[in-house]
Amino acid sequence: MATATATKAGKLLYIDGKWCEGEGGKTIGVINPATEEVICEMAFGSRKDTRRALEAAAKAMPAWMKLTPYDRAKVLKKTADLMRERADAIARTLTTEQGKPLAESKAEILHSADTFEWFAEEGKRAYGQVIPNSQPGKRHVTLKHPIGVVGAISPWNFPITLQSRKICPALAAGCTIVCKPASQTPLSLVQVFECMIEAGLPPGVANLVTGPAQEIADEFLENPVCRKISFTGSTEVGKQLMRGAADGLKRLSLELGGHAPFIVFPDADPEVGAKIAVTGKFRNNGQVCIAPSRFYVHKDVQKKFTEATVEFAKNLKLGNGLDAGVEIGPMFEKRAMENTIGLVEDAKKTGAKILTGGKRYEKFEKGYFFEPTVLSNLNMDAKIMTDEPFAPVMPLLDFSKLDDVIAAANNTRYGLAAYVFTNDLTVAWKMAEGLEAGIIGVNDPVPATPQCPFGGMKESGLGRELAHEGLEAYLETKYVSFKLRD
Ligand code: NAP
Repeated sequence: MATATATKAGKLLYIDGKWCEGEGGKTIGVINPATEEVICEMAFGSRKDTRRALEAAAKAMPAWMKLTPYDRAKVLKKTADLMRERADAIARTLTTEQGKPLAESKAEILHSADTFEWFAEEGKRAYGQVIPNSQPGKRHVTLKHPIGVVGAISPWNFPITLQSRKICPALAAGCTIVCKPASQTPLSLVQVFECMIEAGLPPGVANLVTGPAQEIADEFLENPVCRKISFTGSTEVGKQLMRGAADGLKRLSLELGGHAPFIVFPDADPEVGAKIAVTGKFRNNGQVCIAPSRFYVHKDVQKKFTEATVEFAKNLKLGNGLDAGVEIGPMFEKRAMENTIGLVEDAKKTGAKILTGGKRYEKFEKGYFFEPTVLSNLNMDAKIMTDEPFAPVMPLLDFSKLDDVIAAANNTRYGLAAYVFTNDLTVAWKMAEGLEAGIIGVNDPVPATPQCPFGGMKESGLGRELAHEGLEAYLETKYVSFKLRD
């Protein structure tokens, strides 16, 4: 079926080079969180569809891995070009299914296109080594070998970015892949698949399935054809996968939850710090794994920082992400909004004070809109201080000593991201060394970029995506020893 026809005919699975319905023709309604309307019905596959997709990926792999990295790069690079050409159209789909403002959606598509282009090049650098010999007549080398068929599971908050971080390195390394997007946000990924197909993707090399998450994951875990699972999502599901992966000793990459501290030092302008903090916090409604979630502000600048923060947060424009000038869209689903209401109520019960926001945005009858919220007087018993919030809520705390704030910031089971606001190089360096986080932004609220490693310490994950580490995650090292004739 031609790709354009696939889009028109409804949203289908893509298995072995063909758009197809899921087993039994089941579908699932995709909801626009700004209007609560069903946008369209997406095919909802099954474990059997997943098995078919894994088999197709296994069949496609020998030819794909034999291509030179230069030939594999052509497909990735052309996909990047097509994504850029179609960025506006894909961004509209993304905003409609996920809620984020159009500008953020477009930035996501362009960032993902950069990821395709970057891994097109990095695949050419899957170097082995020549290792000096200790015995005469012996020679030692290492070769890089693709891990095998990959099962890739991603969440709804960045449907394109997070699948791209798996598809691109896997394909660049010579692996083939079966992608499972979140059930609520599969549509924009369909459009990225259309770009890959037009770019020359051979049948079976990348496949797209939706369906009940547990069934799909069980097939990835139990089918010996699947050699690696790359998962982005909650820490709880990540742990389940890790337990399940033990039997088949499946390779795992886990990108999990976070609870990032944002630390404001007194040497720099607190109003500038407030602007950076608000930008980082309310992007995608705080539904970002690396979103700052606990704000430690030095006592000397607390008053000014708080006033500026409340002012910025109060003036953010809420609305349907498709409308011009909107800075904050709806949360992605009703459950997320209700969870946010619960977190704020719980914080209030434990003594927190609401400085702005704190409730559903009542101007709109429909849609999962929540007011950007700033809290003070936090008690450490409040759930928001320990549970990953994934919400547009900013809890403000204070501190006075560098060592104390490092200890407070590290007092969490998570270790994904951390942020520091300072112009003092010594302070920045001490914080970078002291913080237990895989990603540290110094005056930078949006640090992710394709060429730099992304991932967490502690219960925030295992391994790194992006950068050369992201490619290595899809490669095995083979050691070859030669004994030469005398
Ligand atoms: P989730 O429940 O773990 O879901 C994420 C994905 O896993 C979805 O595709 C979901 O499918 C699937 N899933 C659900 N239950 C599963 C199971 N038992 N076995 C296998 N897969 C399963 O996560 P979420 O709460 O929707 O997403 C937000 C989480 O993702 C947050 O914790 C956030 O920090 C994390 N995240 C991490 C990163 C990172 O790079 N570290 C980036 C973004 C988000 P269905 O949609 O079909 O349920």
